[in-house]
Amino acid sequence: MEGIAESALFKNTIRNMEHSAQIVKLNPSAIERLKSPRRAIVVSVPVRMDDGTVRVFEGYRVQHNHVLGPFKGGIRYHQSVTLSEVAALASLMTFKNSLLNLPLGGAKGGVCVDPTQISTREAEKLTRRYTSEIAPWIGPDRDIPAPDVGTSSQTMAWMLDQYSLESGFSQTGVVTGKPVEIGGSAGRDAATGLGVVYIIEKVLEKLSQKINSVTLAIQGFGKVGMHAAIEAHRIGGKVVAVSDVSNGLYNPEGINVPELVEHYTANMSLNGYHGGKLISNEELLSLPVDVLAPCALDGTINSNNADHVKAKIIVEGANGPVTANANDILKGKKCLIIPDILANGGGVVVSYFEWVQDISWLFWDETQVREKLRMVMYRSFDKVWEFSQKNHLDMRTAAMAVSLVRLESAMKLRGQL
Ligand code: GLU
Repeated sequence: MEGIAESALFKNTIRNMEHSAQIVKLNPSAIERLKSPRRAIVVSVPVRMDDGTVRVFEGYRVQHNHVLGPFKGGIRYHQSVTLSEVAALASLMTFKNSLLNLPLGGAKGGVCVDPTQISTREAEKLTRRYTSEIAPWIGPDRDIPAPDVGTSSQTMAWMLDQYSLESGFSQTGVVTGKPVEIGGSAGRDAATGLGVVYIIEKVLEKLSQKINSVTLAIQGFGKVGMHAAIEAHRIGGKVVAVSDVSNGLYNPEGINVPELVEHYTANMSLNGYHGGKLISNEELLSLPVDVLAPCALDGTINSNNADHVKAKIIVEGANGPVTANANDILKGKKCLIIPDILANGGGVVVSYFEWVQDISWLFWDETQVREKLRMVMYRSFDKVWEFSQKNHLDMRTAAMAVSLVRLESAMKLRGQL
């Protein structure tokens, strides 16, 4: 498909897949199938802006593979969204869902728009029109969107409403990550961040360390990073640095996270908070910490800055935050990297719980959700860790290999190979 393979993230993902596929001697036809998405939908999204003019945004929904179940994956609003990036992210969802043992395939959507530059009214119109355009291909049994970078539970509420309007009845199961008042799951907001911390606990356990004896730096203070910081701090971890899109905050003695969250929520900025000194995003990446969790965008750790990274453990809270070159540099420095498809799986795990609750009309409380999430994250980590130890592989290669083996087996059973 033209344009699909252009981005560095897409090329990197294919390279990782082929590398792991070779190790587990995957059927070449399975690799061939997984190299390109099943379907890529490109839509124009015209919006009458508040000033009366009409702007047309480009939107995408890429459905990568559904051998394990309905397509599933987030919707991203960002000015750098491209078809190729969305396609790469869709394939990462296939690998993530397979690794986590969920009965779901992989998809991703996006609109090329800077969400900080449009009003709430414009965002609602854009979301409703985008939903209408992709409506024939989504649905509770087909493809279930969720939030991602630049979208929120409010975005999902608008999607749900628009899709239901067009169906003629209420379809709560069409999206996950929606507000609890309209069928969302308790604990979904914090899920990805919680999952990141559960994975950090597991790595430390394997290295005979404990969360209260290490320092953590978290890049990104949005849906993932903020909740990771809250949970890490709650269980005794020393979060020494965090950052948002503008800058970072550093306190070698440990940041008072609940206090900072209060400041951040009120001001939408780290500026003006007294409990640490302001640093740049680049400085955060090179701090002398034990654990670094990049929780924002792809390509954050690249060949320009990988050399400066001092952390011994990197946990990928974002999708694709470490580029292929950076990965090689960090491997040379004996840095242990826990890959995205494992480390940030908490979001889609609780999305799966939400979807199950919607289908059964029976809702769980937050304690139940957290316990079930912890179980899935621990079990998935153990599986990848054992595979990596047994076969002398790094965690990225092992995670992809475990995921591919399940996909291959499903394809075979369904007669696709
Ligand atoms: N956008 C999240 C991810 O990349 C969640 C996807 C979902 O819940 O479907 O994993």
